[in-house]
Amino acid sequence: MRSAGRRHYTSRFPLYLSNMEADLSKQAKAIRIESHGGPEVLKLTTVDVAEPGTGEVMIRQKAAGLNFIDIYFRTGLYPHALPHGLGFEAAGDVVAVGEGVTHVKVGDRVAYGQSPIGAYADLRNVPAAKVVKLPDAVSYEDAAAVMLKGLTVQYLFRQCYRLQEGETVLFHAAAGGVGLIACQWAKALGVKLIGTASSAEKCAIAKEHGAWEMIDYSRENVAERVKELTGGAKLPVVYDGVGKDTWMTSLDCLKPRGLMVSFGNASGPVEGVDLALLNNKGSLFVTRPKLADYVPTQQDMQAAADELFGLIVDGRIKVMIGQRFPLQEAAQAQEALAARKTTGATIFTIE
Ligand code: NDP
Repeated sequence: MRSAGRRHYTSRFPLYLSNMEADLSKQAKAIRIESHGGPEVLKLTTVDVAEPGTGEVMIRQKAAGLNFIDIYFRTGLYPHALPHGLGFEAAGDVVAVGEGVTHVKVGDRVAYGQSPIGAYADLRNVPAAKVVKLPDAVSYEDAAAVMLKGLTVQYLFRQCYRLQEGETVLFHAAAGGVGLIACQWAKALGVKLIGTASSAEKCAIAKEHGAWEMIDYSRENVAERVKELTGGAKLPVVYDGVGKDTWMTSLDCLKPRGLMVSFGNASGPVEGVDLALLNNKGSLFVTRPKLADYVPTQQDMQAAADELFGLIVDGRIKVMIGQRFPLQEAAQAQEALAARKTTGATIFTIE
């Protein structure tokens, strides 16, 4: 913990918005966990925030995003040394910059979607390399809703497998946070997205957002419907963020030499893959990608974000925030996401 006290800084130390001689030990409200478990382990705490170090920026956050990956860290599916904060996605104002930061300055509106863990907070330091400037037309809330999810769709559709106009693809959980951006991005590319969802209501929302066809998996057989919809041809690529429950179905939807993009575990992780299965089902390819490997540098992140913001600014992607929670209701927010009660993005609003 840092002790409060006035210090004098020269220009090689962080630059502050209002007062160069400000007390640099600031306090933040943050959601943290001390043990893995259910939503009850999420606690609102007060933490000290040190001055930004070399290459860091301090952000006064206005909104943060909720993502399924936050649940994996809370439960311990993705291990991380305890105690720790949660969250990877937020937007706000730069209030201080550390040494060596050049592409953003104090006062800039910024956002990020791939920071070190700890975005559920009203104030924090983030490596500047993870931060992009926000166009005026993109609000803090919209940015907090799309930075992680939208950059994920960018790499899934434009890098991992570069979709071509006229192709047909399957995308599971199409009414979710990543899913509704995927529906719109596919439409913008001239790609026919077949989505899956658990109810008629969710199917309707995904269709409104550009899905070509929807399969309500609570009452329809996904592989059979895909065969029908493609006249028996099946698909060149399947995007599967559901994981365990949909693994086999997804493979059955692929044409020979098709690509299975298994990018999440909403129903649990896929384990014990038998390679012979890929051979038997038609020399299939499988990848298990993550965002960090597709936007490794600030330049990569900026290029992907520019593409995303471009689509938002010209109206081809409308950010759909289905749920808003105050930070102190992080447990309720995660519960709703895990229980499939959400549609589109969920954000934390920060006073
Ligand atoms: P969503 O808003 O899509 O929520 C998850 C959805 O998955 C649910 O709404 C539900 O939709 C569906 N689902 C199916 N089975 C289950 C289950 N057993 N429990 C809960 N949900 C289930 O979440 P996000 O948009 O945040 O993330 C979507 C997926 O993408 C996640 O798996 C996430 O980890 C992954 N992801 C991966 C990234 C990567 O780089 N690898 C980056 C970002 C996200 P329905 O009711 O229609 O079935």
